[in-house]
Amino acid sequence: MTELQNLYRLQQADLQVEQLQKELKSLPVIAAFQQLQNEAVAAKKAVTEAENRLKDCKKKIRRLEFDLQQVEAEQKNIQAELYGGGHKAKELASLEKKAGTLKREQAGLEEKLLAAMDTKEALEQELPEVRKKYKKLYGKLLALQKSGNAEIHELKSRLARLQEEQETLKAQISETLLAEYRKRRAQYRGKPLAYIENDICCGCRVVISFTVKRSLQQSPDNTYCENCGRLLVPRE
Ligand SMILES: [Zn+2]
Repeated sequence: MTELQNLYRLQQADLQVEQLQKELKSLPVIAAFQQLQNEAVAAKKAVTEAENRLKDCKKKIRRLEFDLQQVEAEQKNIQAELYGGGHKAKELASLEKKAGTLKREQAGLEEKLLAAMDTKEALEQELPEVRKKYKKLYGKLLALQKSGNAEIHELKSRLARLQEEQETLKAQISETLLAEYRKRRAQYRGKPLAYIENDICCGCRVVISFTVKRSLQQSPDNTYCENCGRLLVPRE
């Protein structure tokens, strides 16, 4: 196999590699996976947030219950003092005022406690729902990962085989020719080399001239199509 023919094979391998890389990037399973992953992350966040809210709510309830106990204890003391007797009118008025304040305080605390308990109940109902949603999404994600991996793995192993071929071919082509090929790749959309078939340039479908034919015989590694400018490669 001539150097030029190897270069032609490299051109085909390069094109296939680019195609595969494009396919890999735009694989539907990858977009679907990303979407599902975002949803799962959001669901997980909702679970954590609900758990934290519940934790805070329980803490608040404990604090309110404690405060309420304190107020009730204080009220008991005042009642005991009030009914203990032997107070002057002024002391009595002061004690009664204090009892009134405590009663209002108690009512306020009780109201807050009830509201907190309602919130707790709502959160306790919400939590299993958000947990269930997360679990479902996570399961879907795992399943997709499994099926997607097979597809990705297949493409990647094809890619690896082609890349190996690229390396083998490159090792058999001179740096000068490789540089020339790379320089002209963009101009010819990755196909700067063309086969000649029945005296036709496969790059542009134009019949090659007598001059080109003669040039091919004299310097088969360095003949360009007169029409499209591609490096011409005789069939093996
Ligand atoms: Zn041509």
